[in-house]
Amino acid sequence: MTAPSKEALVRSVAEVVIAHADELTGLDQAIGDGDHGINLKRGFEAVLASLPESRDKSWPDLLKAIGMTLVMKVGGASGPLVGTFFLGLGKALPEVPTRQDLVAACARAVDGVKARGKSEFGQKTMIDVLVPVQAGLASGAGGAALKRIADEAAEATVPLRATRGRASFLGDRSIGHMDPGARSTALMIAAAADVLEPGS
Ligand code: ADP
Ligand code: MG
Repeated sequence: MTAPSKEALVRSVAEVVIAHADELTGLDQAIGDGDHGINLKRGFEAVLASLPESRDKSWPDLLKAIGMTLVMKVGGASGPLVGTFFLGLGKALPEVPTRQDLVAACARAVDGVKARGKSEFGQKTMIDVLVPVQAGLASGAGGAALKRIADEAAEATVPLRATRGRASFLGDRSIGHMDPGARSTALMIAAAADVLEPGS
């Protein structure tokens, strides 16, 4: 990938999060403290601001820089967790990644988020989207399929009772709402898929 298309990928992921900040905050108002959109918006605005210096970096260095920015700039649980995902990708990818490299790096990055959050699939968090998307990627799913997997996985958090994160404090009252982190993760995956496999 050329530097301009790297920039397009980062820009597209950042812009979708920023554009949906109010929706994400609304979801977090229902089962959290109403800051998820604000948190991620702050982080991805910082990522966009650093693009002029970072867009010529290699994939590993670019992803690590994004991860560090998110860990440092985003408050709440989601900053360290989303930041860990980007850091994990950056640490695992070679300079010129193949699709197979992406599959392996994504698996390592998801494991990193699970370790950081002490979380597993099924607890009504962003992990509930990351795990099936990772499985889809590993089995060769293309962009359109990955978007559908991510959307369905976010939707599937609605009937769950949260057992990790702030929403878990609500117990049964967390049932019936989509997890904000699952929604933001699905949005980011869809944006990345659109750039990596346009028209899919
Ligand atoms: P906070 O909960 O600190 O206010 P945010 O509102 O920014 O942080 O992010 C909340 C999201 O973070 C949740 O919707 C969930 O997807 C994710 N999350 C919270 N705790 C965990 C955890 N331990 N493991 C994985 N994801 C988590
Ligand atoms: Mg919150």
